[in-house]
Amino acid sequence: MTSSFYPPQRTLMGPGPSDVNPRITQAMARPTIGHLDPLFVGMMDEMKGLLQYALQTENALTIPVSAPGSAGMETCFVNLVEAGDTVIVCQNGVFGGRMKENVERCGATAVMVQDEWGKACDPQKLEDALKAHPQAKLVAFVQAETSTGASSDVKTLTSLAHQYDCLVIVDAVTSLAGTELRVDDWGVDAIYSGTQKCLSCTPGLSPVSFNQRAIDVIKARKTAVQSWFLDLNLVMGYWGPSSSTGSKRAYHHTAPVNALYALHESLVILEEEGLENAWARHALHHKALKAGLESLGLNFVVAEADRLPQLNAVTIPAGVDDGAVRAALLNDYNLEIGAGLGPMAGKVWRIGLMGYAARKDNVLLCLSALDEVLGRMHAPVNHGDAVSAALAFYQRQ
Ligand SMILES: *Cc1c(COP(=O)(O)O)cnc(C)c1O
Repeated sequence: MTSSFYPPQRTLMGPGPSDVNPRITQAMARPTIGHLDPLFVGMMDEMKGLLQYALQTENALTIPVSAPGSAGMETCFVNLVEAGDTVIVCQNGVFGGRMKENVERCGATAVMVQDEWGKACDPQKLEDALKAHPQAKLVAFVQAETSTGASSDVKTLTSLAHQYDCLVIVDAVTSLAGTELRVDDWGVDAIYSGTQKCLSCTPGLSPVSFNQRAIDVIKARKTAVQSWFLDLNLVMGYWGPSSSTGSKRAYHHTAPVNALYALHESLVILEEEGLENAWARHALHHKALKAGLESLGLNFVVAEADRLPQLNAVTIPAGVDDGAVRAALLNDYNLEIGAGLGPMAGKVWRIGLMGYAARKDNVLLCLSALDEVLGRMHAPVNHGDAVSAALAFYQRQ
């Protein structure tokens, strides 16, 4: 007989999933009720308000897609892009590359604006591309590039796109609840995120939001959306009408009921803390972690001005065995940090401080574990002072 699966309790400080607040896993264990039960529908309405708060938007079309962040990405592209369109994609890491895939699978042309990995998307390069491709309909970019830890300026990139009559799609999977994000103030037209990064919820859902301009483009489509499941015209019939208006929800798919309890709880926790306080907490613990990592002599991949607090990519010192270090952290400390992706594989570590994981005890655990493991492996680092450097930072606050 196969026995039940009992995972160990790990500390998750990689690129996601992040540490889940126990309140969220407890919420998930509550009784499953029908997804058209009036009480469940009421919870969904509340969830919409909480998501609007998290995204700083009044967009009525603000919902969680019943699938992970990648499905939120695909929802934006398949609904807004039609065959023959031109879309400008700013790429500075792995996820911009996936945007290109999405554009091309819609039968559209992707004009790529490339920036070096570890750099922010360059507004000047975007403007050059907008001038060179006046037929472009959309601009897409990633706010928080999880593959490198670089942050791009959503406000500036969005206003440039609008000057040239393009809508924007923003990837906010890693930025939501970790760094400043203001969908309405910045005029973002379509945005998607995920639950398992700075919301510290379990993986598997993707909050998305669309403004009226984006909805008008969807309604004016000449062709049907090629994905039945992600077609917002159908999804809106399910999530769209509110119980307060008394209109009926049309069955589209069975909502992942317990996963939605989890997201609701994570958003309640965010509201209790306050969005700006959550941003400030990520910044604070990032600075403490940075003090410790720099004391070890590790160098950040991203220049300070463009660095994300929630994703700390550092260069692996010469001669150090990437896999052996991560295995020692996992086996001896139950601590997960992230490996490099794509061209950065084997060259960097990605240390996440996302959501519930952005805490003092996690920072100190990570620094003491890294310091010990690197010392044991005779790595060329300044061994022994990482924890005290972080503590000294906290004491100055
Ligand atoms: C994690 C991530 C995604 C994909 O989300 P999944 O939930 O893994 O599908 C997309 N974009 C960025 C920037 C991410 O960090």
